[in-house]
Amino acid sequence: MTSLQVIRTVADLRSALEPHRRAGQLIGLVPTMGALHAGHLSLIEAARERADVVVMSLFVNPTQFGEGEDLDSYPRDEQRDLELAAEAGARIVFAPTANEVYPQGFSTHVEVEGLTDVLCGAPTSRGAGHFRGVTTVVAKLLNMASPDFVYFGQKDAQQSIVIRRMVRDLDFATEVVVVPTVREADGLAMSSRNAYLDGAERERAAALNRALAAASENRGDGVEGALGSARAVLADAQIEPEYLEARYADDLEPAESFNGRPVLVAIAARVGRARLIDNVVINPGDSADLSSE
Ligand code: AMP
Repeated sequence: MTSLQVIRTVADLRSALEPHRRAGQLIGLVPTMGALHAGHLSLIEAARERADVVVMSLFVNPTQFGEGEDLDSYPRDEQRDLELAAEAGARIVFAPTANEVYPQGFSTHVEVEGLTDVLCGAPTSRGAGHFRGVTTVVAKLLNMASPDFVYFGQKDAQQSIVIRRMVRDLDFATEVVVVPTVREADGLAMSSRNAYLDGAERERAAALNRALAAASENRGDGVEGALGSARAVLADAQIEPEYLEARYADDLEPAESFNGRPVLVAIAARVGRARLIDNVVINPGDSADLSSE
């Protein structure tokens, strides 16, 4: 295993990458907030398939957390994360301080309009400010590392869709790659926030994925019918969703049917103190992912 380099500053990241770039090597970036699980590791593994050098960023980005969210209690264990990242094949972990990313007087933001007003961006959910935090930090990471490829998980489908739009609109010279959701044996999407669940909540949480499976199986009943069957599965597990919606995967407009364009069926729900999200993409064909666009 090549040894892992841990880098804290933008200047050091640029000098570490420079020789690789000069040698014509391809760079892959995997942005994370740490508390690594198999989902994150699958992004590193996917990056290794195409990139010669995999950089994982590890930064709990304060600006994407709203008032009253879990910024302070978000799980952090850098030593464990470094070991897992190295085992999965990352060459560099870029773990800057908040001051390095947001120096005194920081006042510039990147906002993707429209796509960020719905689902997790709705005022009744995390709000568009969440995505403004995400797009701003991802834009900065892309400028810092100039990767040839940048990897995101389908678990955060709206995030991937928003970032693809940002990369296109602002001409970032990188390719956004979306990797399928990695799940526990009972279907629960892996998430750093699953650590908040106690035993009973952990069992109930599997209903999110079962609800999405029900929607997918009942696609023949149309959008309302499919969402109704998903809602019934959630109700059985005493889960009241924050949202459960079907939207076209390209523009996030409300979906009217499953017969035309790919439809994103997305759920957010609180189970105990964990806010969980999950989704499935229902294609007019068969496959259920965002990996090709
Ligand atoms: P986070 O550390 O939660 O910000 O996630 C970092 C990246 O890992 C994001 O691109 C997520 O979409 C991705 N990710 C998180 N959970 C999973 C999962 N279960 N499967 C695949 N990717 C994931």
